[in-house]
Amino acid sequence: LATEESRLSATPMMEQFIEIKANNADSLLFYRMGDFYELFFEDALEASRALGITLTRRGQHLGQDIPMCGVPVHAADDYLQKLIGFGYRVAVCEQMEDPAEAKKRGSKSVVKRDVVRLVTPGTITEEKLLNPGDSNYLMTLARIKGGDKPQYALAWIDISTGIFRLAETDLYRLLSDIMRIDPKELIVADSLFHDAELRPTFDMLGRIVSPQPAVLFDSATAESRIARYFQTVTLDGFGAFSRSELSAGAAAIAYVEKTQIAERPALGRPERENAASTLLIDPATRANLELVRTLSGERGGALVTAIDRTVTGGGARLLAERLMSPLTDADAINARLDSVAFFLDEQRLTDDIRRELRHTPDMPRALSRLALERGGPRDLAAILKGLEAARSLGAMLAGKRLPTELSDAFAGLGSVPFELTDQLASLLAEELPLQKRDGGFVRDGAIPELDELRQLRDQSRRVIVGLQTSYSEETGVKSLKIKHNNVLGYFIELTAGTAGALTETPERRARFIHRQTIANAMRFTTVELSDLESRIANAAEKALAIELEVFSRLSEAVVDAADAVKAAAQAIAAVDVSAALAALADEQAYCRPAVDASQDFRIEGGRHPVVEQALRKAAQNPFVANNCDLSPLEDQSNGAIWLITGPNMGGKSTFLRQNALIAIMAQMGSFVPAAEAAIGVVDRLFSRVGASDDLARGRSTFMVEMVETAAILNQATPRSLVILDEIGRGTATFDGLSIAWAAVEHLHEVNKCRSLFATHFHELTVLSEKLPRLANATMRVKEWDNDVIFLHEVGPGAADRSYGIQVARLAGLPASVVSRAREVLTLLEDADRKNPAAKLIDDLPLFQAAVRRDEPKSSKASKVEESLKALNPDEMTPREALDALYALKKAL
Ligand code: ADP
Repeated sequence: LATEESRLSATPMMEQFIEIKANNADSLLFYRMGDFYELFFEDALEASRALGITLTRRGQHLGQDIPMCGVPVHAADDYLQKLIGFGYRVAVCEQMEDPAEAKKRGSKSVVKRDVVRLVTPGTITEEKLLNPGDSNYLMTLARIKGGDKPQYALAWIDISTGIFRLAETDLYRLLSDIMRIDPKELIVADSLFHDAELRPTFDMLGRIVSPQPAVLFDSATAESRIARYFQTVTLDGFGAFSRSELSAGAAAIAYVEKTQIAERPALGRPERENAASTLLIDPATRANLELVRTLSGERGGALVTAIDRTVTGGGARLLAERLMSPLTDADAINARLDSVAFFLDEQRLTDDIRRELRHTPDMPRALSRLALERGGPRDLAAILKGLEAARSLGAMLAGKRLPTELSDAFAGLGSVPFELTDQLASLLAEELPLQKRDGGFVRDGAIPELDELRQLRDQSRRVIVGLQTSYSEETGVKSLKIKHNNVLGYFIELTAGTAGALTETPERRARFIHRQTIANAMRFTTVELSDLESRIANAAEKALAIELEVFSRLSEAVVDAADAVKAAAQAIAAVDVSAALAALADEQAYCRPAVDASQDFRIEGGRHPVVEQALRKAAQNPFVANNCDLSPLEDQSNGAIWLITGPNMGGKSTFLRQNALIAIMAQMGSFVPAAEAAIGVVDRLFSRVGASDDLARGRSTFMVEMVETAAILNQATPRSLVILDEIGRGTATFDGLSIAWAAVEHLHEVNKCRSLFATHFHELTVLSEKLPRLANATMRVKEWDNDVIFLHEVGPGAADRSYGIQVARLAGLPASVVSRAREVLTLLEDADRKNPAAKLIDDLPLFQAAVRRDEPKSSKASKVEESLKALNPDEMTPREALDALYALKKAL
């Protein structure tokens, strides 16, 4: 488009379009024309397809029709929402002058237009486009080279609430950190975007990643750019930041400026977050545990939905954030638990507070819209109601001995300027229009001049009503009406059949001036009517001017008090979250976990928070509570591993997940679904559960399983919690058994972490003889008439059989297949009486010894290795495999 030829042959308007489009090549351009935003060329093709709106043409360019589509300005938010949802970015280009001005400059002259805002997924503020319970983060990733290792940092901003945070990270935890914060848009420098080392991370994140010019990240000017935004000379007063953090922070600010153009969101000061203070949950675990959305992407069925009892938007966001980033510092966790305990003790107060909070509007988002001059009268009212709620919360809690977290939150309330609430309360009307340009939001009686103008307007309207009666009597036309529209203003309307009455006499012909003839009616006006009309219009215009002036005064006062407003919002959110968690604990009979720095993990009567509620809702058998104890034994310094066997459908996965979820809930500062729980803080949580296929990226289930297992074995520390479900299932039996075997040994000898290991390889249970911290547990079942009944009870010991055939029968396998399978099984069991693994346990050295012995590799393959290579376990029967094993042993 932007060629010289193209420019020369364009009409002046197209020329303007092409120029603006060239500067916003990566966005769809919403080009304002009167009451529409229009899109041209490629943009029109894309938008009409995405939005399902009609594609038409407007004029020609270089001999070709110009494709065009348009959306009405008043409905633009809905279309924007869809486009943003599809991952588009939109540049909004407005008319910067009255078209009449342009006409004055000459007939060829084009109305001045400019892009006033880029709408991107990470920078939206409209209530319609935002989910109240979700943060909307824009994130930047910076890398500083130099020194021995590159430094990475993340900055994230929610311009809809003003939160601005920075944290260092590293290549290893990068993806986990990004997923924990869950940004809607991730900005990286062009150069980084193409970096091979980061490519896999960006591939995982998909389309939220957006490359931007590297200058945004320039670290030499970073500090001064941030300081300039906050109108300070240096950042010294904000705390100490690393170079990479400054670079990420400055890029985030630059991107906000780039997208918001003339407006300045009310950002909070950058706060530094210590990444090590949060529980590291690797991306696969985060997805598999379904914390904030299920594997299929929905909120229903996810943990957050089961435990969220907050009643405000800010509270819901804070709760989700805590769930996404549980803490690792026992003191900080206990401080949060103290707040929950406080509300649990004060039932009546908690109920009152929750009732009070229920209608509290979302102050941070209203504040942000006001600061960006996108606010309306209802945003002012939201601030008023929010501040009032904070004030009455303060009163309700006054005189109580508050736990530190709450008293800290309320310390900020002292700075809320009461003049502001008084001013808002005295000026705002009860019923408020959506848009300030609709007027009518200033309270009657608040401003005498405004009252007079309104009276004048209303009186004139009454006179008009009177006129209708007198015209109708005078002409004898009962159906005569005085109506109003935006084109003609006030007019007299008669049906075509009765209109003759107005032209009967010369006197009437002179008085009633014809304006318009439409299908079945004629429209007239009179001098009287147009006088009244202009009086009304003048009065309305003056009244609106006064109201708009009041609006900007109030809006300015609110923005000036931004810090206090935010403090109040934070206090409300903190109270809402703690009170909601107390309500949840009460409703669901959760207990306060004892959290400390030990390596304990002892859960009594633990339940799965989501499954428990689902079973209750479906009025099924109640959830069976289970114990879990991975605490170090008396003579051991590290936690234990439980090896869990039991039939499919016995409840193994549920048990594994519930313990991981209990750890997460405890560390976010919530009570937990258990009768008792003692948890030494977990530093990293890993899981390998379920079969999350990754076929889209060309990895088989088995490959995914191995990649995830590798990550766990490489990264788990003695403080970690590891949940492994059915490792080695996706391959041939002996492969799988061997891998599972080695993985258990590695966890025990190398990682030394607390682990739950569910397996269908019963052979593994013999390992408990050699590994002192390994204990066997099993899901209990009852046999009844060749059927199994799942008790969902976890008890010590090993399952003696798999009950696969019984489960298959329950699933409806044809009876003939079931009975044939029984026959085959009996034969196999006779042939393979002995557990081959039982033999292994006597003959194989332990993991560490085996690894050490392996190390000095001789270059020449031994006889054993040669014959091992020749084996193909996939094609062997268990019997053949066992024979081969004996043969190998002999050859040593
Ligand atoms: P497995 O992993 O052993 O195949 P699951 O954990 O998938 O078994 O559980 C199978 C079914 O049993 C699930 O539908 C679940 O609702 C139910 N279930 C599991 N644990 C319990 C329990 N403790 N109490 C009641 N029902 C349970």
